[in-house]
Amino acid sequence: MSDPTARAAAALAAGELIILPTETVYGLGADAANAQAVAKVFEAKGRPRFNPLIAHVADAAQADRIAVLDAAARRLAARFWPGPLTIVAPAREGVGVCDLARAGLDSVAVRVPGHATARAVIAAFGGAVVAPSANRSGRPSPTTFADAVEETGHAVAEALDGGPCAVGLESTVVSVLDGRIALLRPGAVTRVELEAVVGRLSEVGDGRRSPGRVALHYAPDAPVRIETTQTAPGEILLGFGPGVGDPRWSLSPSGDLREAAANLFRLLREADRERPSAIVVAPVPKDGLGEAVFDRLRRAAGHVG
Ligand code: AMP
Ligand code: MG
Repeated sequence: MSDPTARAAAALAAGELIILPTETVYGLGADAANAQAVAKVFEAKGRPRFNPLIAHVADAAQADRIAVLDAAARRLAARFWPGPLTIVAPAREGVGVCDLARAGLDSVAVRVPGHATARAVIAAFGGAVVAPSANRSGRPSPTTFADAVEETGHAVAEALDGGPCAVGLESTVVSVLDGRIALLRPGAVTRVELEAVVGRLSEVGDGRRSPGRVALHYAPDAPVRIETTQTAPGEILLGFGPGVGDPRWSLSPSGDLREAAANLFRLLREADRERPSAIVVAPVPKDGLGEAVFDRLRRAAGHVG
């Protein structure tokens, strides 16, 4: 088999893992219905088993087969799929996504990725594919093929290069359960964009509904300080905006949040390789896409979220 898409689909069907490019971050893919394959994902990542995985599907019709999408969920799907939005909805009994992938919950997280390669692999495979970020648990997500291979390449049967991830941050996660819509994880689809489709989001206030959101996450080896431009010798400053720090290490020299999101994890990894005594990150705006960028920075710095 010379076609990489077909090889990746065959690997999934055989219960093997793959490196799957998506527009958010590189994923470590496995057959969502195969508990043994899903167990390999938790194993390769060192991921705690209470942290459920997202089931990636090729289109909304396939999402419908594994999740019960109400009218609001359908509106969100119609507006943002394919794209960086994950919807948590009631799981359909015993179909498509194993218990382990759902961490035993009666809900399931589904998403149609925006990256054409990801959708082609899922469509060729035919079932739902879990694909958490292809990094060891707790570390920054890989947003380049090289970074994905470095993190979990040893564990996979097939690795697909889809180029650098356009978004660079994990998907926005919203739950649509019992008629309530809540933002569980900020991402490139912003709160304002969601509220334009479904109205005011409810406050979460229920940790059980957002199991995987641990305090220290997305973290390089070096300590991370945020919200300052003050550095000591031996530290690296990741700047934002004109004139802040060395342009080589800037999240976005022009102060563009999309560019900053796309660069964030790659620069955290590159800075870490220089073995600095700390990585310091300049202030970024906190509205719009800044909510997601700041969320990842707070967790990289170990601030409780
Ligand atoms: P990722 O780490 O990108 O694979 O995304 C998985 C995240 O989605 C988890 O850490 C949870 O925050 C969220 N998630 C997945 N499934 C569920 C679910 N059934 N209920 C609530 N949150 C979920
Ligand atoms: Mg992750």
